[in-house]
Amino acid sequence: MKEACGVFGVYAPDRAVAQLTFDGIYALQHRGQESAGMAVSDGETITVVKDMGLVAAVFDERTLSGMHGHLAIGHTRYSTHGTSEWNNAQPAYRPVGRAGFALGHNGNLTETDALIERAGMLPGMTASDSDVVAGLLALAFPESAGDPADGELAGAIETVIPELAGAFSFVLMDASHLYGIRDPHGFRPLCLGRLGPSEDPEGWVLASESPALDVIGATFIRELRPGEMVTIGADGVRSRQLFDDDQISDRLCIFEFVYFARPDSQLHGREVHGARRRMGELLARQAPVDADMVMGVPDSGVPAAEGYAREANIPYGQGLVKNRYIGRTFIDPDQQARVNAVRRKLNPLHENIDGKRLIVVDDSIVRGTTTRSIVGMLRDAGALEVHLRISSPPFRWPCFYGIDTPDRDELLAAHRTLPEIGRYLGADSIAYITLENLKEAIGAENVGFCDACLTGHYPVRVPVTFSDHPTDPDPGPGVAESTGAERNETRRDDILQGALPGV
Ligand code: SF4
Repeated sequence: MKEACGVFGVYAPDRAVAQLTFDGIYALQHRGQESAGMAVSDGETITVVKDMGLVAAVFDERTLSGMHGHLAIGHTRYSTHGTSEWNNAQPAYRPVGRAGFALGHNGNLTETDALIERAGMLPGMTASDSDVVAGLLALAFPESAGDPADGELAGAIETVIPELAGAFSFVLMDASHLYGIRDPHGFRPLCLGRLGPSEDPEGWVLASESPALDVIGATFIRELRPGEMVTIGADGVRSRQLFDDDQISDRLCIFEFVYFARPDSQLHGREVHGARRRMGELLARQAPVDADMVMGVPDSGVPAAEGYAREANIPYGQGLVKNRYIGRTFIDPDQQARVNAVRRKLNPLHENIDGKRLIVVDDSIVRGTTTRSIVGMLRDAGALEVHLRISSPPFRWPCFYGIDTPDRDELLAAHRTLPEIGRYLGADSIAYITLENLKEAIGAENVGFCDACLTGHYPVRVPVTFSDHPTDPDPGPGVAESTGAERNETRRDDILQGALPGV
C-alpha cells in the first residue's frame, strides 16, 4: 500500500518561498517518493521545476537560488492514476492568462473518462487525472484572460471543481494568488498555517500535513473544511464553500490515522501518534495473549505496540531494524521481488528475539507478503511464538480515492477467514482491531471517516461493481490460533499451488 502525494503552498512576500517550499515538501516526502516539483511566481512569471526522484535529488541550492518570488506551490508524488514518468510529475502548468497557472493534486478522481471527454482530450493521451483537471481549468478561462489580479483562475476553479467526483486536495496558483481546495468529503487532508504573528502576518501556508508547517516555523491555524476553497493574496485569506450542503459529508481517510500520516501530524484536532498508541491499548484489551515481549513493525506499528505493551503490562522491545535509506528506486514486479524487498528493508535483532514469545503489532496487512516474510524472519531468529496484532480491521476492498492498493483478489483478507489468514501468515495467533475500537482510539467526535477498504461502503460511486460482496467471509473480530502442523500444511499447499515462492 503506497501513499499518494503531498501538496504544499506558500504566500510570503518577504521570504525565500522556494526554500520554504523545499522544506515543506521535504517534510511531506513520506507521501510520495516518485517525483518532486515546485512552481514559483514573482508576480509576473511562473517558473516550474520538477523531476523524477526524491525532493533532495530534484532540488539543490543552485536550483533554489534561481527561483525568486513571493508565492509558490510544491508537490511530492506517488502515482495512483497515470504512470510513473516525468510527464506526470507535478505541479502541472498551463500557459493561460498573463502568466499561466500551476496545480498540485493529492487524491484520485473517480470519473476521469467523462472528464477527459469534456476536456476534449483523447483517451490514452492524458498523463494523469491532475492533467485533465488542469486542461478543464484552462478551458474555463475567459478568452480575454489577461491580468491575473482579475481572478480568472478563481472563476475557472468555481466552474470546474464542483463538477469533479472523487478525492482531491488541490493547491493552485496564478501569478498573484494561492488557492487551496478540499473535496466535499475531505478524503485527503489539507491544513492552513500562518507565518509571523497573528497581529501582523508575514504570510500564509497550505500543506497536506501540519509538520510541513512546523518545519518552516508556521503556526497551525486549522484544517480546511470539506468542500472549502481558500484564496490567499495581498488582501489575506478568504474562504468560500464550493459545494451545496447536501453534497458535503466528512469522510477523512481513516488510514491517514492508521498508517499514512506522520505521527506528529494534527488531524481532526488530534495528534496521530496518540491515536496510534490508543489503538494498541484497545487492541490489548480486545485480544490479550501471554507473551515475553511486545514489538512493533517499524515505523507506523511502533506507537500501537507501545500502547499494547503498556496496557498488557508486558515489556516492550525492538525486534526489527529498518534501513531508512531505501527509497522507492524500482517497482517490485512480482511476489519474489517483494519478499526480497522486505529483507532489504527490515532485519531482526537476534538477541532480543531468541527464545521469546513475541506479540508483533503492525498497522495493516494488504497482500500479506510483508507480514509473512516478517513472521518467517522472526522465527528464523529464534522466536518461540509469534502472535500478530493488527491495529486496523481486515483490509478487504481496494481504494479508489488516492491510495495505491492491489486488485481485490490480491488482498489477503478479501476472501479468507481469520484462521485461514493466520495460517497463511504462519502466526501462532492473529487478531485485528475492530472498527469500533479503531474509531474510539482516534477519539475525534462529530466527524466522519472513509472506511471503504474495510467495509466495502464507498462514499463516492466507484467504477467497479463487486459481485461477490454478500457471500465473502468476513474475517471479523476475535482471535484465531493455529498450530504448527496447520501452518506447515498451508505453506505446503501454497507452494504446490504456486501461490508462494518456495522461500
Ligand atoms: Fe482511505 Fe480506505 Fe477510504 Fe481509501 S478506501 S480513502 S485507503 S479509508
